[in-house]
Amino acid sequence: MDQEMSEINAIEITGLTHRFGERTALNDLSYSVRRGEIFALLGPNGAGKTTTIRLLNGLYSPSAGSIRVLGFDPQTQGQEVRCRTGVLTETNALYERLSARQNLHFFGTLSGMPGAELRSRIEEMLTFFGLQSRADEKVGTFSKGMKQRLALARAVLSRPQILFLDEPTSSLDPESAQQVHELIRSVGQQDGHTVFLCTHHLDEAQKLADRVAILNAGNLLALGTLEELARQFNPGLWVNIDLAQPLSAPLALGDFRGVVQVKQAEQHLEVQVESEKVIPALAAELVRQQAQLLSFQPNKVTLEQIYFQLQENVREGKK
Ligand code: ATP
Repeated sequence: MDQEMSEINAIEITGLTHRFGERTALNDLSYSVRRGEIFALLGPNGAGKTTTIRLLNGLYSPSAGSIRVLGFDPQTQGQEVRCRTGVLTETNALYERLSARQNLHFFGTLSGMPGAELRSRIEEMLTFFGLQSRADEKVGTFSKGMKQRLALARAVLSRPQILFLDEPTSSLDPESAQQVHELIRSVGQQDGHTVFLCTHHLDEAQKLADRVAILNAGNLLALGTLEELARQFNPGLWVNIDLAQPLSAPLALGDFRGVVQVKQAEQHLEVQVESEKVIPALAAELVRQQAQLLSFQPNKVTLEQIYFQLQENVREGKK
């Protein structure tokens, strides 16, 4: 990768294939992750998410293709990669018999942080992750949510440029998951961290990610922002309209440019349009036809709709 690309992209993956014996876990993938973005790799069990994180950290060597993390090859420059990245895996790898503060001290020392800087960073992290009041208690007494917050503190302690998160909320209740989401978002905004998040939770990816890559059985089905994916895979958009008065005559929208179909009831309309661009003109047309608008609500496409559309495409052999 040339210098310019490594300044824009934190991660560059080109033609990446990984096989375990006969099984192909990743099949000829090419994509990049930009510096400073939260990038979600989304896919069902066995899609290849953990394998990707291990390859990016130099724990596996690819069967084919190339990887660059911050311009380094994780295979031959693993140490360079690991000292600039933080990892949070499903198992949090904390010492249960040590306190929160001792855990952070241990891992910070391991990563070579100088003593004075480490001590002040530990206090900053304990406060930021809401663990200050339990800092000297053994981690074995912590709830899962607290352990995960501490594991996240550990992962960002040495200010890594890239944070790898593998299913960071998989064992948490909704409240703790939400806390961890908020922390991931603020970690992403701090220090320009790049976050590479692997998850099978659609709402997690939708809430956090700037861009999403959808993986299935080692193949990349789609990649983009939610808006881009919506345009590409779910072009129809429904607008729900409530009227203050029943229509005196049905609205004439059949020939209106960009309208796909219309469902009309007395005081309620559902109009499917080709894209968001049609919406202002549609609203103007309704007013022109003297519809008494009470509410006008385009339904945002969710990642869930896109995801299931893609799975259906796969089943029907469209992709
Ligand atoms: P999950 O959400 O279940 O963790 P994942 O997306 O992380 O799934 P991977 O763990 O990367 O998926 O697995 C991708 C594929 O590679 C699966 O078919 C899995 O069985 C296979 N695989 C993973 N690790 C190994 C291994 N060490 N030996 C053999 N096959 C493996």
